Amino acid sequence: MGSQVTIEVAAHAGVCYGVERALSMAADAAASAPAPVHTLGPLIHNPLVVRELAETGVGLADTLDDANAGSVIIRAHGVVPSVIEAARERGLAVIDATCPYVKRVHHAAERLVAEGYQLIVVGESGHPEVEGIMGHADGRARVVSDTSDLEGIELERRVGVVVQTTQTQDNLSRIVSELTRRVDEVHVVNTICSATQERQQAAAELADRADVMVIVGGKNSGNTRRLAQICSERCERTRHIEDASELDAAWFEDARLIGVTAGASTPSAHIDRACTRIQELTGAAHAR
Ligand code: SF4
Repeated sequence: MGSQVTIEVAAHAGVCYGVERALSMAADAAASAPAPVHTLGPLIHNPLVVRELAETGVGLADTLDDANAGSVIIRAHGVVPSVIEAARERGLAVIDATCPYVKRVHHAAERLVAEGYQLIVVGESGHPEVEGIMGHADGRARVVSDTSDLEGIELERRVGVVVQTTQTQDNLSRIVSELTRRVDEVHVVNTICSATQERQQAAAELADRADVMVIVGGKNSGNTRRLAQICSERCERTRHIEDASELDAAWFEDARLIGVTAGASTPSAHIDRACTRIQELTGAAHAR
């Protein structure tokens, strides 16, 4: 190994706009919001980040009962409105870090319901983002994760559709085309966020060329695990790490191109640490 080894970071990798924004709001809250400061649920699915936040004084509350004073930070994927009301009633300062793209889904859901459409939320039942969207739909929405879910729903003539931000375009298209066969009017507001898809495409493109792929991010992060899966289908030597300390020189034996990518819940500092460690282990001259 040596200077012929190249490290390449995928064109789209690491935290998305909404998570970056939530992290920066948490850092501001640690410095200036009424203490103690808690996030309501983990701010992102990354145990390392949760620990780092705790070190700066931002604790983790699973429910409002665990945050009886000070401030609560609402996560990027949002909550049902009643949670924010309940927090305010308890006298807590609310720092709403709901991603603006998720808010867009909330507003679209409210508008479609107000216009009299039966609302379908294309998404994963039980996911906190989907629960939050449902909370903006006046109790009248139904969650559909694939076309088979439509069987159990008594559809009205006019159906409105919004989408969990991380859904795929293919799944949305399948469900909408089935709906158009069954009802008179389908009004779709496509609320898919491109961040997930961009990361997956960039990871696949790099994994096709790389000798080794390193995926950096929480093992409990769904989007990071999905990146690891996409890469392992294209590059046999794919490794998923949470932290640079897990990297092993033996993984990079005879590698010329080492690809690095990270899920939407991995801060750029963690990607940088992984690249620096790979450089130390392999003697790679530079990262690009
Ligand atoms: S994936 Fe998209 S919608 Fe979700 S937090 Fe990130 S930027 Fe916002």
